[in-house]
Amino acid sequence: MERTKFCKSCEAEKSTMDFNKHDTTRDRLGQNCKPCIARRKRELRLERNPERRHRIELLARGMKHCGSCSTDKPLSEFWIVKATGLAQPTCKACMRVANAAWSRRNPEKRIARQKRRKPRPAEVTAAYSRAWREKNPDSGKRYYAANVEKERQSHRTRYDSDPVYRERIKQRWRAFNKRRPDIKNAIVARRRARQKNALVPWADKAKMREFYTEAKRRERLTGEKHHVDHVVPLQSPLVCGLHWEGNLQVLPATVNHAKLNRVWPDMPGVPY
Ligand SMILES: [Zn+2]
Ligand SMILES: [Zn+2]
Repeated sequence: MERTKFCKSCEAEKSTMDFNKHDTTRDRLGQNCKPCIARRKRELRLERNPERRHRIELLARGMKHCGSCSTDKPLSEFWIVKATGLAQPTCKACMRVANAAWSRRNPEKRIARQKRRKPRPAEVTAAYSRAWREKNPDSGKRYYAANVEKERQSHRTRYDSDPVYRERIKQRWRAFNKRRPDIKNAIVARRRARQKNALVPWADKAKMREFYTEAKRRERLTGEKHHVDHVVPLQSPLVCGLHWEGNLQVLPATVNHAKLNRVWPDMPGVPY
């Protein structure tokens, strides 16, 4: 029959195997069972180390303390180490800064590391970006709005130097022009106006585009070609009109051709 003993802490009857040996007691066994001693040791460790206690409390709330920026952050702000399954001691943001600093200090090592890494399959990269774009639908627009000049410059540089990119952009424009000839006309008119120094800052692009859309609409309705005309011509021997919504009108092409930039309201000698 197995010998048993009552533990003084948990007051359970346990096998004598669950007790440590002890020199001074009558039965030569400790008063508390091994699991109770282990539990008490854990508690003492926590009492002596408030920082450790804080860490454990944080973890219970799904948080963790970053030792680098000394901030409590959600666990999702930390990378998980694959080998151990545990979160890194430093948050993602701090890791990013530290990694960038390391790369700056060790440019050759960084390049060597990049060369060693086997390239990720293109379809995997594409899937990642697709998922990210779906999660952040407006991020591209927002970034572009905040970096218009930079983006335009890099687009121009790439357009001039990368024939594949150039062809792709051209193809995209061709498709767009086919789909929205009205907008294409508006863009072309704007380019011409810029060449004639007739652009003004107060012009409302959206309102102006409505004229070009309206011209196309009337074309569809009447079967007759319509133009967007400048009421006061942009260039004529006598006046210089401006390219803005107040100076636009939709005319049938025949009327517009007859006008030939030689007529405008208030023109001396013309009965309007
Ligand atoms: Zn016990
Ligand atoms: Zn941090």
